Amino acid sequence: MSELEQLSMLVGGEPTGALSGRTFASTNPYTGQAWASIPDGGPEDIDAAVAAARAALDGEWGRMTGFARAACLRRLADLITENAERLARLEVNDSGKLYREMLGQLQGLGGWYHYYAGLADKIEGAQIPSPNPNYLVYTRREPVGVVAAITPWNSPLLLMSWKVAPALAAGCTVVIKPSEHAPGSTLGFAELIAQAGMPAGVVNVVTSEDGAVGAHLAAHPDVDKVAFTGSTATGRKVAAAAAENLNPATLELGGKSPQVVFADADLQAAANGLVAGVFAATGQTCMAGSRLVVHADVHDELVRLVAERASQIKLGDPFDPETEMGPVANGPQYEKVLGYLSTARDEGATVAYGGSSEESLGGYFVQPTVLSVKPTDTVFREEVFGPVLAAVTFTDEDEAVKLANDTPYGLAGAVWTKDVHRAHRVAARIKAGTVWINAYRVVAPSVPFGGYKDSGLGRENGVAAIDAYLETKAVWVELTGGTRDPFTLG
Ligand code: NAD
Repeated sequence: MSELEQLSMLVGGEPTGALSGRTFASTNPYTGQAWASIPDGGPEDIDAAVAAARAALDGEWGRMTGFARAACLRRLADLITENAERLARLEVNDSGKLYREMLGQLQGLGGWYHYYAGLADKIEGAQIPSPNPNYLVYTRREPVGVVAAITPWNSPLLLMSWKVAPALAAGCTVVIKPSEHAPGSTLGFAELIAQAGMPAGVVNVVTSEDGAVGAHLAAHPDVDKVAFTGSTATGRKVAAAAAENLNPATLELGGKSPQVVFADADLQAAANGLVAGVFAATGQTCMAGSRLVVHADVHDELVRLVAERASQIKLGDPFDPETEMGPVANGPQYEKVLGYLSTARDEGATVAYGGSSEESLGGYFVQPTVLSVKPTDTVFREEVFGPVLAAVTFTDEDEAVKLANDTPYGLAGAVWTKDVHRAHRVAARIKAGTVWINAYRVVAPSVPFGGYKDSGLGRENGVAAIDAYLETKAVWVELTGGTRDPFTLG
C-alpha cells in the first residue's frame, strides 16, 4: 500500500494535528484503500478554533475595510483556480466523484469568491428619515461574528464556499467542520488561506471522525451563526442547537425533486435532463431530480430513452476521462442505496434498467436504475441519494402539480414542455426553491439556492445571501445638543 498523504487542520493560522494526537484514515471508495491521514479532532480542537476565530474578529480582520477583505477574497479565488487540479484530486480520492466533473467544479469555484469580493466593498447602511427632526438616524451593517460552517461529503468545497465566501465578504470569521466521509479537500483548501493574506484565525478547519464534534460546534456558546448543509435529520438537530443559543441558522437539507414532463416536451432533451439530474455525480446531489412525473401518453417512450442512455453509461475509475459514473461515495451510503432498491422490488416497481449493484467492478458500484412505480412507493417518496430514477404518470396539469408537490421536500424541480404559458404556470405552482424549465442542474454564485419545506431554511448564493452574515445596527444622533424630558419616550 502506498504511503498515506498527511493532511493538517488549520487553527489560528497554524497547520496542526488534533490536540489528542489522534488521526483517522480517509478511504478512497473506488480503490477501497486508505489514501490520507486526517487529524481526528475533538471538542477541545473546536474550542481552540472558535477562540482563534473570535480573536481574529477582535483583531486585524475586524479592523480591515471591505476593500481589503475583497482583495483577500480575490487572491483566494485565484489560488483556488491555480490549485484546481490538486483540490479536484483530493475530492476524487475522498468521494469517488469524477475527476473531470470535479476539475470543472474547482476551476469554477473561484467564481464564488470573486462574486462575493464584489460585494465586500458595497455593504452599505442607510440614512433613515426620523419623525423627530432633532435626530439623524443611520444604519451600519456589521458582521454577525463567528460562523460555524458544517458541510456534507458530496461536493465539500462547493457547498463550503457557498457559506465561507459571503461570510468572509461580510467580515465574519469561520470555523469549518467537513464531513468525516470526505475531509481531505477542505484541508487542501486550508493550505491556501495564509497565501491569500488572510490574518491568522479568520478561517479555521477542524476535522473529526466523530459526528458529535459537529454537534459541539453547532451548540458552541461563542459561535454567532450556524451555516449547515447535510441531511434533514441532522439539520433539525443543528437548528435546535442554534436556537438554544438564539443564533440564526442557514440550513441546506435533503431533497426529492420532481421532473415534470408534459406530452409536448422534447423527449430527447428531457431524457438528457433526467440523466443529468439523477445519474451525474452517481445521483449523490441534494438537487437530484429523482422523481419523474410524466404524462401517461409519453411515459413508455421517455422511460425507454432514459433506460437506453442508462444502459450505455460507462461506470469505472473516476480518474478515467471516459468514465461517466463513479462508485457510491462510502459504505453506509452504498448499503442505503441497495436497501432502497430491494424495497422497490418488494413494493412491485417495474425495472426498465438496472436495479442492483454492479458486482463486476467491485467497490461500491450501483447500476444506474430506471423504475416505474406507484406514487406511494418508498423509492418515490424518500431521498435515496443514489442513481435511482422513479417514474409515475399523470393525465392533466393539476394532477402533475399535485404529484410534484406531494413530498415533504422542496429543494428543486423541473418542467419540460414546449408550451411557454404552461412552463411558467407550472413553475410558479411547484413548491421548491429552484425550478428549471427545459433544463436541470445549473447553479451560479449569483442565483439564490435553498429549500422550501423540509429542504431547509434561508438561501445561499445571490446578493441577498450576504445578509445572513450581517447584523443591522441603528445609530441615533442627537442634533440640537439640548436635553429633553427624561420621562418620555423619544
Ligand atoms: P449528514 O447530515 O450526515 O452530515 C452533514 C455534516 O453534519 C457532517 O459534517 C457531519 O459530521 C455533521 N454532523 C453529524 N451530526 C451532527 C450533529 N448532531 N450536529 C452537527 N453536525 C453534525 O449529511 P451527509 O450524509 O454528509 O450528506 C448528505 C445529505 O446532505 C443528504 O441528505 C443531502 O440531500 C444533503 N445535502 C443537501 C444539500 C443542499 O444544498 N440542500 C447539498 C448537499 C447535500
